[in-house]
Amino acid sequence: MGTARLYWIDPYINQFKARVESVSGKDVVLDGTYFYPQGGGQIYDTGTISEIRVVNVRREGDLIIHTLESEPNFQIGSVVECRLDWDRRYRIMKLHSSAHLLYYAMQEEFGEECKPASPGLTDSLKSREDYLFKEKLDLQKLQLVEKKVNDLIAANLNIYTWSEGEKRYWKVELYPAMLCGGTHPKNTGEIGAVKVNRGKKPGAGKERIEVTLAS
Ligand SMILES: [Zn+2]
Repeated sequence: MGTARLYWIDPYINQFKARVESVSGKDVVLDGTYFYPQGGGQIYDTGTISEIRVVNVRREGDLIIHTLESEPNFQIGSVVECRLDWDRRYRIMKLHSSAHLLYYAMQEEFGEECKPASPGLTDSLKSREDYLFKEKLDLQKLQLVEKKVNDLIAANLNIYTWSEGEKRYWKVELYPAMLCGGTHPKNTGEIGAVKVNRGKKPGAGKERIEVTLAS
């Protein structure tokens, strides 16, 4: 049986108890977890299991594997106290939803052909994604993109996430749904405000666009 992906049920839970299903060296599998494993453009969560630092979380098939900083002080069958680094995770949630809002704003400002060139990555400091650009990036238009994203945030739009079979969706009011397996806030208002900047150029025909939280 796989690990229950509890972070989808309630992304705001940051402290929980779980049963240890397996231990292999510093790798631990729980019966269910609120720790997000790296994937879908979102970095893994950090925190502690039984007071030991969680330094990596990854998915292998149906299992979510937490890597600890040191050998576990517990064994299979133990019930352990788990804690996420909530400030970090909440920033990731806000930035991940911002990255989706950025996508709609980019499409509106630069046209439909301005699509992500590859899956981006959201961590606790920024969300970065490479977009396809045939022409030179117009920085004034990028400022309009930033304004549009901040307007959507300030509009306090509800954010919905749900599963359909194996697929996971994200949707914000007024826009069509998109595929996403990440963790997100319930409302854009929680994001506060963001800055949108041009990053290091990733290669010909592409521009890296970065989103950071303004506070
Ligand atoms: Zn996403």
